[in-house]
Amino acid sequence: MEKILTIQNLNKVYNKRVHAVKNLSFEIHKGNVYGILGPNGSGKSTTLGIVLNVVNKTSGHYKWFDGAIQTHDALKKVGAIIERPNFYPYMTAEENLQLVCKIKNIPFAKVAEKLELVGLLERKKDKFRTYSLGMKQRLAIASALLNDPEILILDEPTNGLDPQGIRQIRDLIKIIAVQGTTILLASHLLDEVEKVCTHVVVLRKGEMLYQGSVDGMLSNEGFFEIQANNMGQLQEVVQSHTAVEKTEIVDQKLLVYLKEPLPAEALNQYLFHHQIVLSHLVKRKLSLEEQFLQLTNNH
Ligand code: ADP
Ligand code: MG
Repeated sequence: MEKILTIQNLNKVYNKRVHAVKNLSFEIHKGNVYGILGPNGSGKSTTLGIVLNVVNKTSGHYKWFDGAIQTHDALKKVGAIIERPNFYPYMTAEENLQLVCKIKNIPFAKVAEKLELVGLLERKKDKFRTYSLGMKQRLAIASALLNDPEILILDEPTNGLDPQGIRQIRDLIKIIAVQGTTILLASHLLDEVEKVCTHVVVLRKGEMLYQGSVDGMLSNEGFFEIQANNMGQLQEVVQSHTAVEKTEIVDQKLLVYLKEPLPAEALNQYLFHHQIVLSHLVKRKLSLEEQFLQLTNNH
């Protein structure tokens, strides 16, 4: 698969103190929608800033496309919105985009095409200052797409929007992806990444906790809730099973987290073999929120 961006062992240390990005490596391939997911301060914007050449890296490497062209030229094939959209308030949407076309030497015909894509063609004669935040964000996306970039980069694209605005932006991102533009977005919202992205890089305090498909992140092995007369003995025996990651007692129940698949029958049989009869056995899966919190907190 064609590579759009390769990041290798990237590090960023601000002011010799804040290690904002730690040894980060991942690749972006054409046609996918990537999410960088992590809580505030986890290094998402710093990572985007580095590859867009607005933040200096401390060490490591990144290369755009096959690495044959300089970053400066490669970035002409990248559309990015990493700050709040800013246009001339007293100019119309159309005039603002025409100005971008002039600066970047793009034919004016692109303006109508992209306004239509983001659902703002009917509002093209309205001044930017009259736009809602959601419309401003969609205009920024239209602007970033004027030169038909290979990849669109968005930092927290739905921050501050109302539910309808959030929905419109997410639908728009999916449409842009279907049309063949690769997308990289940063978000602190698990459900946003789950709804929009095919692939994810999970960051916490600059460290990568997971990378791979969104489906892979969401399918974990689950856990058991079990009880027996002698909880101490139960915990000791369960802990000795090779499929068990860790256990904890919550509300008089033993929670058994797995590192490998283990059917309920197999656990029951194993315990019976060790002279333990269960009075309670339930297999549960973590909700998405719980999985994300587990990924980001328990390390
Ligand atoms: P995110 O986008 O995931 O919220 P950031 O990349 O903005 O995370 O920040 C990562 C860390 O780097 C945080 O601890 C933040 O305070 C710090 N940081 C970000 N920008 C700067 C800067 N310009 N100077 C110093 N520290 C910074
Ligand atoms: Mg950020």
